[in-house]
Amino acid sequence: MTFASLGLIDPLLLVLEQLAYHTPTPVQQQAIPAVLAGRDLMAAAQTGTGKTAGFALPLLQRLAAANQPVAANSIRVLVLVPTRELAEQVYESFRGYGQHLPLRSYAVYGGVSINPQMMKLRKGIDVLVATPGRLLDLYRQNAVKFNQLQTLVLDEADRMLDLGFSRELDAVFAALPKRRQTLLFSATFSAEIRSMAGAMLVDPVSIEI
Ligand code: AMP
Repeated sequence: MTFASLGLIDPLLLVLEQLAYHTPTPVQQQAIPAVLAGRDLMAAAQTGTGKTAGFALPLLQRLAAANQPVAANSIRVLVLVPTRELAEQVYESFRGYGQHLPLRSYAVYGGVSINPQMMKLRKGIDVLVATPGRLLDLYRQNAVKFNQLQTLVLDEADRMLDLGFSRELDAVFAALPKRRQTLLFSATFSAEIRSMAGAMLVDPVSIEI
C-alpha cells in the first residue's frame, strides 16, 4: 500500500516523499479514501496513529480540486480541537502538507488577543483550526462566516467534552450549514460521544484501529 495508490495528487506525494513517509498508517489507509469520497467518518484513533495526516491530506486535496475562491471572512474547512497546543500542531500539519498548494490555513484560540485574528480572517481562510470558545467569540463578532463551509472536523472530541466545551460545540453546530461533510475523531467512545455522532454524522464510515 502506498500514498499514490490511495489516490493522492502529486503536490501532496512530493511532501510525503520529503518527509520520508513511505507507507500510510492503518488509520490513513482507511480514512484517506473515505474522506476523498466525501463521506462522513467516525474514527476511534489516538494521538500517534497518524490521524492528523489521515484527515489533512484528503481535505487539502478536496479543497485544491474544488478550486473555489474563499469569500471575505468565510472558511471552507473547520477543525475544532480542545487546546491551543493542538491547534498550533494541527495548523502546522496543514501548512506543511499543503506547502505546494495555493491554500490558506490559520489557527485561532483563546488566551491571546482577538484583534489580529479578526484582521487575518478578513481575507477568508481555506482551513481554520480553532478551539470552540474563541471560534464562537469570532463568529458572534461576524469575523467568521460559515456559508462556504464544506467540512467540519472534530479532533479529540472526547477531550473537548471533558474540558467542558459541550455548550460551545452545540452553539457552533447550530450555526453550520446542514449539508456538509463531518469527521469525528475520538480516543474513547462514551455514550455522550456516541450521541453526538448520531446527531452529526450521516451514514458514516467507521474506523477502529
Ligand atoms: P498524529 O497521530 O497525527 O499526531 O501523528 C503522529 C506522528 O506520526 C507525527 O509526528 C507524524 O509526522 C508521523 N506520521 C504520520 N503519518 C506517518 C506515516 N505514514 N509514516 C511515518 N510517519 C508518519
